[in-house]
Amino acid sequence: MSVLKEVLDANLQYVSEFGDKAQLAMPPARRFAILTCMDARLDPAKYAGLSEGDAHVIRNAGGRASDDAIRSLVISYKLLGTQEWFVIHHSNCGMEFFNNELMGDLLESSLTTAALSDKGFVDVGEGPGSSEGKYINWLTIADQAASVIEDVTRIKAHTLVPSSIPVYGFIYDVATGALLEVTEATKIGVAS
Ligand SMILES: [Zn+2]
Repeated sequence: MSVLKEVLDANLQYVSEFGDKAQLAMPPARRFAILTCMDARLDPAKYAGLSEGDAHVIRNAGGRASDDAIRSLVISYKLLGTQEWFVIHHSNCGMEFFNNELMGDLLESSLTTAALSDKGFVDVGEGPGSSEGKYINWLTIADQAASVIEDVTRIKAHTLVPSSIPVYGFIYDVATGALLEVTEATKIGVAS
């Protein structure tokens, strides 16, 4: 069965059980937002106990505080009233397995999916690739706790973010499902 059909079948099932969710308000009922990684093993609704309508979940590769993530967070507070934010990176994140230079080289070699070997990602595709990848900051991660601290620091220091918003820093452990606090990040993220 194709993924397209699987998704549409699953949606039909969801619609049949949709219940009264049409009544949900647009602003998140529990007034918080989570910035986290797109990794398929992470399900914020499950690891943080969310139902539809509860919270904003902003996801990108690494859960990094990119300009676009900050755009979403500012909208989340300014227009939709969230009052507390979480930055949640995770163990065994794919963003730890490459850096800007390698990604630029892989894309320059080919646009095809690379292989993950013992030595990291290696390109196995046929060209042509593109040098465009060298102009992007891929926001890779060298140290999980350090990246959480860096992102909480950037969010808290941003001129569009009021100091009254607490930002909590966590690492999700893919081996256990536990959220482990990065206390230094949460300390930096304290509301004032
Ligand atoms: Zn990740």
